Amino acid sequence: MCGGRVDLAFVFRAFEKGADGVLICSCWPGECHYVPEGNYNAASMTSLGKKLLEHAGINPDRFKLQWVTASEGIRFADTVTEFTNTVRELGPLGSSEGLSEEDVKANLQGVIKEIPYIKIAMREKLLTHLDNTDDYANFYTKEEVEKLFTEKPSYYIDPEKCQGCGTCRRNCPVDAIDGDKKIIHIIDQEKCIRCGSCLDVCPPKFSAVTKLEGGAAVPPPVPDDKRAVVKQAS
Ligand code: SF4
Ligand code: SF4
Repeated sequence: MCGGRVDLAFVFRAFEKGADGVLICSCWPGECHYVPEGNYNAASMTSLGKKLLEHAGINPDRFKLQWVTASEGIRFADTVTEFTNTVRELGPLGSSEGLSEEDVKANLQGVIKEIPYIKIAMREKLLTHLDNTDDYANFYTKEEVEKLFTEKPSYYIDPEKCQGCGTCRRNCPVDAIDGDKKIIHIIDQEKCIRCGSCLDVCPPKFSAVTKLEGGAAVPPPVPDDKRAVVKQAS
């Protein structure tokens, strides 16, 4: 119902499922029915989405946001016709990009996996209101989008410090932390969305969680037979 409700994940999932193009039709800026900023959020998300498509090797023209209110039937019909023609000219997803079906899927899945983190890392920019919505076109740079993939942080639990209190595990939004009472906790790096909650909630007297920045390697997890907490933190 609202352009502002369209999540980056919806767009990329549509492409991953084989859509050759994605068109969002949203009310005009300043005419949002639900949240005053909904269509500005959609414009910001679209601009970031186009840069992420480029990162995946896909022509960003396959993704478009157009302002069309419910009463603008002719504009809607023209928009759909024009966008359909653009997508027809581009051909099936991957064909004009020189990518095989497998490569398209793999590239899109690489982005989809990082979307929860991207939304956290780009939260402020995604919610930024630019009065002139054309300015969103260059709001995100190629360099900052590349850094989302090459310099993403990781979170690591130091087995020497963890006391197995379980606070981080209970606060992880995606069940990425394995552990039990008095058992050293471990982060599943494949599941982690890098939200940083575990770092925030680990009691300061333990300070067992570390944020590793700049793409630093995560030390291997402690073996299962060495996970019992043997000493109490003072
Ligand atoms: S909150 Fe800290 S001490 Fe407690 S289980 Fe998690 S990492 Fe270990
Ligand atoms: S950074 Fe967030 S998602 Fe990752 S383990 Fe910590 S709480 Fe879970």
